Amino acid sequence: MKKFILIIILIASGVLAYYFYIDTNSPVINWNVEHGAYINKGLTINIADDQGLSEICYSLSGAGCSAEERCLRDFTSASFDLAVDPENCVTNNEPFKMKINVAATDTSLLPNQTVGSIELTYDNQPPSLVTLRGTRYLKQGGSGVVLYEVGEDPNDTGIVLGDLLFRSFRFSQNKYLSLYAHPYNVAADEFKPRIFAVDNAGNLRKIRPGSTTASHSYKSEVIKLTDDFLETVKNKIMANSQKTPLNVFKEINDTVRQQNNQTIVELCQTSENRKLWDGVFLRNQGATRANFAENRTYVYNSSIVSQQVHTGIDIAGVSKTPIVAANHGKVVFAGAIGIYGNVVVLDHGYGLHSLYGHLSQINVQVGDRVEKGEVMATSGESGLAFGDHLHFEIRVNGVPVNPIEWIDRSWVKNKIEVFLPNNADTE
Ligand SMILES: [Zn+2]
Repeated sequence: MKKFILIIILIASGVLAYYFYIDTNSPVINWNVEHGAYINKGLTINIADDQGLSEICYSLSGAGCSAEERCLRDFTSASFDLAVDPENCVTNNEPFKMKINVAATDTSLLPNQTVGSIELTYDNQPPSLVTLRGTRYLKQGGSGVVLYEVGEDPNDTGIVLGDLLFRSFRFSQNKYLSLYAHPYNVAADEFKPRIFAVDNAGNLRKIRPGSTTASHSYKSEVIKLTDDFLETVKNKIMANSQKTPLNVFKEINDTVRQQNNQTIVELCQTSENRKLWDGVFLRNQGATRANFAENRTYVYNSSIVSQQVHTGIDIAGVSKTPIVAANHGKVVFAGAIGIYGNVVVLDHGYGLHSLYGHLSQINVQVGDRVEKGEVMATSGESGLAFGDHLHFEIRVNGVPVNPIEWIDRSWVKNKIEVFLPNNADTE
């Protein structure tokens, strides 16, 4: 009988021990970083076990660090964050490859051990960044170019201005160029563009492109809205709307205009990594009816009901005039966009685009290559236009810029083309 009780006790304690002291799950190592990743600061490796941890040993090797193993014991919880800081291993500020080995053991009566290792590259230095040449003086609403060199292959590079990003294009080993703009709606003292480069480890460097700018005031005008005009707009664009003609006008001029602009900004993200254009941009024939960046305030019954800025120039010739491509390019859009009516958008490469609006007929298709001066369309009054005219825009990375600069032969030559990559750059 005594023997039987002893066996029962042994079995019971065995079961208890199994449940409380013997666990079959090994510790889990969560590296929090991908194998082969670049890092620029220390990392935290989480080690956890479903019962408890008894020992964690780790070593770090690479650059100035020997692979000496260190062990930790006495854990207060079943999860531990192991902080590893390779900063002490840095010898000459050069990026280095490192290896971390971890061995974790749990508290089980029959201990389980997990062993793992990871290889990473540690780099805490931002890429070097130096400007090569570029436009010295910009003007509010105008454009410029800058060429620069990055010390290492960047993960991302370009020009930032507030929340605007001007992309850069690589034209040679480590050499980049970026067309950028001083947007018409940014005050001269707020114009602080920065060239940036960020490497694979996330180190960021920013420098100034080395240009200055001048403020430029554009014309403002007040437009009095009449009931006749509002009625015409409604019938032209949103004839079936239940809203009053005034509310229809406000919706078109504010919401729809903004949506259309967003569509164009997105279209302008398609651009070839080479210069398709050559020399000055052509101005289509006709008289200038409205200028770039004209600020228009709309008044109805002596109160201001809407406000907008004209992002291009209006040119009116004889009606149904053939519209030519201002420069060599590639068609990235040919179709209708709200208030713009029928539109052609051309990519000229390096983030530069031209746009032709209110067309009555389009003779080109997306993907077509067009030559400077080639007839692409016929003028008209589609969209929010009254009377046959061409609405012409130039955009730099989607930002509307003053087209007057681009149709000025000496400006294009002396402010842009003289700085562009030449044979010496690719050697
Ligand atoms: Zn216009």
